[in-house]
Amino acid sequence: MKIMHDVDMREYTSFRAGGCADTMAVPESTEELQEILQKLQRSGEEYLLLGNGSNTIFRDEGYHGTVIHLGDAFSSIKVDGERLICGSAALISAAAHEAMEHGLSGMEPISGIPGSIGGAVFMNAGAYGGEMKQLIESVQVVSADGQEICTLSNEDLQLGYRMSRIQKTGEVVVSVTLKLTTADRADILSAMQEFMQKRNSKQPLQYPSAGSFFKRPEGYFAGKLIQDAGLKGASVGGAQISAKHSGFMINRGGATADDILKLMHLVQNTVKDRFGVEMEPEVRIVGGPAEKNEKEGR
Ligand SMILES: Cc1cc2nc3c(=O)[nH]c(=O)nc-3n(C[C@H](O)[C@H](O)[C@H](O)COP(=O)(O)OP(=O)(O)OC[C@H]3O[C@@H](n4cnc5c(N)ncnc54)[C@H](O)[C@@H]3O)c2cc1C
Repeated sequence: MKIMHDVDMREYTSFRAGGCADTMAVPESTEELQEILQKLQRSGEEYLLLGNGSNTIFRDEGYHGTVIHLGDAFSSIKVDGERLICGSAALISAAAHEAMEHGLSGMEPISGIPGSIGGAVFMNAGAYGGEMKQLIESVQVVSADGQEICTLSNEDLQLGYRMSRIQKTGEVVVSVTLKLTTADRADILSAMQEFMQKRNSKQPLQYPSAGSFFKRPEGYFAGKLIQDAGLKGASVGGAQISAKHSGFMINRGGATADDILKLMHLVQNTVKDRFGVEMEPEVRIVGGPAEKNEKEGR
């Protein structure tokens, strides 16, 4: 298993901001994953799982623990009838492409989400009326202490809006079985292209970001609240509320994690003062002093 030290997490996260992780471990098999989890459990060292880093920010102070980043061996995608069996490090886009090639429909609305399949299960990622919950048949996980491997059903996962049981248990997703439906390849492809066009026209994809920064508060739209609070285009250092889509915070160049978090607090305080609505980050904020992680949504 590859072990690296002082790893610059800007290279592993889509926001391209933040500090270094003390250690990164890259297991290449379920056995190696269990081995590292058991070792970390024994030593009591902090650790976290990182998928494609498209919903995670590391604080500038860095992460004083081990980041587990699943290796290429976890990126396989296999087709079995109407089922797609994906390693959890496989990208959603790659899985959607493979499904399309085999005339399997279901992934089109989520095909443009730039995460891994494991991260998508953890977040119950969704877009344009589709979400992982509609597609997951079962998931194979390793327990947080590395001792057990078990299979969870869709119901076991307790999937809700950007929510899954994995967020509470710390289990590691290793593979995911999706149940899709047979359809015409050309129709699937054109639907995927349409959803991608929608993304391109509405989202500031030319800048580093983590997508929608805040969860949708019940009864509201985060972007609309931010815009109505007069914060469209607001910036702190290199971090900015996108002028194209107020729900996105972008890195205009050289943003630090501190810039991003200051802007996050500005949005939270302003929206709370103006409309009495709490804005909870959808983005996972990690690293720095341990007590901060709990407050800010880790
Ligand atoms: C431009 C852009 C557009 C986006 N659009 C959308 C969208 O339309 N809809 C949407 O829902 N999201 C969207 N996102 C956010 C993000 O892509 C999703 O949340 C995605 O599911 C995160 O996957 P990841 O692998 O990058 O997760 P990471 O950021 O690597 O991790 C996110 C969380 O998942 C956990 N995790 C990752 N892999 C595993 C695993 N194998 N086992 C257990 N836990 C794991 C991590 O510990 C972490 O807490 C967007 C992001 C960007 C940058």
